Amino acid sequence: MTIAPGEIARFADSVYADRMQRAAAAAGDRAIDALIVTPSIDYRYLVGYNPPPLERLTALVLRPDADPVLVLPLLEEPLAVQELGDLADGIDIQPWQEGSDPYQAVRQLLAGTRRVGVQDQMWARHALRFAAALDPIELVEAGPALSALRRVKSPEEVHRLRRAAQVADTVMLAATGVPLAGTSERQLEAKIRDLLVLYGHQVVDFAIVGSGPHSASPHHVPTDRVIRDGDAIVIDLGGTRLDYCSDTTRTAFCGDPPREFEDLYATLQMAQEAACNAVRPGVAASEIDRVARDVITEAGYGEYFIHRTGHGIGMETHEEPYIIAGNDEPLVAGMAFSVEPGIYVPGQWGARIEDIVVVTDDGGERLNTSATDLYLVG
Ligand code: ZN
Ligand code: ZN
Ligand code: ZN
Repeated sequence: MTIAPGEIARFADSVYADRMQRAAAAAGDRAIDALIVTPSIDYRYLVGYNPPPLERLTALVLRPDADPVLVLPLLEEPLAVQELGDLADGIDIQPWQEGSDPYQAVRQLLAGTRRVGVQDQMWARHALRFAAALDPIELVEAGPALSALRRVKSPEEVHRLRRAAQVADTVMLAATGVPLAGTSERQLEAKIRDLLVLYGHQVVDFAIVGSGPHSASPHHVPTDRVIRDGDAIVIDLGGTRLDYCSDTTRTAFCGDPPREFEDLYATLQMAQEAACNAVRPGVAASEIDRVARDVITEAGYGEYFIHRTGHGIGMETHEEPYIIAGNDEPLVAGMAFSVEPGIYVPGQWGARIEDIVVVTDDGGERLNTSATDLYLVG
């Protein structure tokens, strides 16, 4: 799954033209007259390239009945033109000169506008300057309009997620297919990071290794603790391949697991399986959380399941939809999210199983295909 020559992150120009149009329409549906998107994952999602976020303003302005406008520093124009290719033909590029006020340029563009959505991760300095320049236009979060698009993946995006998941599975099997006793958490973390790149991720996002009592800390940061007989080991790894993220967790045990841990693990595996099997269009996101939680609670471990069941995944590791009590939005074919219940007994041990699942027309597809069994290691 290494990146093949010619395999590039950018999709066809028509994909981005369509996304920009649908984003503006989604804003319109929410009574938002325009969206202002600064460099971010949203920006990359919409136009297919990502300049570094800077103190100099780059802003993509989308409105329902107008061509997209890209206001950017003059010196950033060559990069934009190169990266946008033919897509630039449909974008009104408005470079601004050093010393001029780009916020006022956007203000002129938005004359007569009442509500504007600003991208969620926009730097505060830009957001505050827009608030001052655009007054009395009401500024609201662009997040809901943009995530309405991003939360439902196209078949091409699902394909990317599937590939990333395959890489993650390969890394997980390689990392756990050898004796781990005598290896420190940090050494195993370093090995996983190397493997993620070796097998075809461009970016390593995280590699969590929690051994022994550390396995009870869901987001443990690896230390010099050396893995030894009797340890549970929670391994959670992920990276980005061609813009799309992987995220998987498996639990290993060094030596013979005691009966008590086997029981805990059997419950967890049942809960994770039941939650994966409950995925289908129309089911509420909260229902997937409830299914996993009920199995764990009925077995008496409820107090040890201390986080939500999952999160959406795509160009970001954590995005919508969140698989959590209270999120009653119905699942839609194309949504992708993790199903990752865990049981953590403080000071003793913990376990988690995490797969990425995509909602299909009549159920769910697990993108991670490695066995969810407890991995027994020496
Ligand atoms: Zn997490
Ligand atoms: Zn994870
Ligand atoms: Zn996760």
